[in-house]
Amino acid sequence: MGKAILFSAPSGCGKTTIIKELMKCFDCFDFSISATSRAPRGEEVNGQDYYFLSKEEFMSRVAKDEFLEWEEVYSGTCYGTLKSEIDRIWDMGKVIVFDVDVNGGRNIKKYFGADALSIFVMPPSIEVLEQRLRSRGTDSEEAIVKRLGRSAEELKQAPAFDVTIVNDDLQRAVNETRNVIEKFLKG
Ligand code: ADP
Ligand code: 5GP
Repeated sequence: MGKAILFSAPSGCGKTTIIKELMKCFDCFDFSISATSRAPRGEEVNGQDYYFLSKEEFMSRVAKDEFLEWEEVYSGTCYGTLKSEIDRIWDMGKVIVFDVDVNGGRNIKKYFGADALSIFVMPPSIEVLEQRLRSRGTDSEEAIVKRLGRSAEELKQAPAFDVTIVNDDLQRAVNETRNVIEKFLKG
């Protein structure tokens, strides 16, 4: 069994941004590409950001037990971690990086135990989270409302994670995360 780092937070807290910065610092990292039934957004590329599947294909893979975990994160939209991603990354001797919702994060941590470091990314405030979701400019008003609607409940689950990083100043948050990960990988 190898090691894994998992990032969870409500949508818009900055997981993707922090992960992209960290991928530049750690050659040993490889990103677990999740499957989703939502359509690509902005510059997203199939097989790089996500495996974009139809709802039918997603559910057929669920039936074939191909997922380590999956969730209907927003009503009608499913996301899941394919078991094949774990084998792909560990076979290369790399550390898996997950970007999953809060429930998925708790399930993955339970599965990997001490081999995973679970990191919760906290926004400075709900107001800033809303601003970031809007300024990202990739979601419809309906999608933003759905995402914000889940965030208060998700934020309450931060204590279940190994570490909480407040993403106020990006560089500070990236540095703090890097320090925590270095300690974990040495241990
Ligand atoms: P998530 O992956 O958690 O949904 P993103 O990484 O897409 O969040 O970040 C949401 C938006 O907030 C993006 O437009 C991103 O550029 C911006 N952002 C992320 N971190 C910060 C920060 N520390 N300060 C200001 N803006 C940020
Ligand atoms: P987005 O649509 O913004 O890319 O992602 C929405 C939410 O789904 C985010 O909280 C993201 O972390 C989560 N997510 C992405 N992939 C997975 C996955 O494989 N499993 C679970 N449980 N959540 C995921």
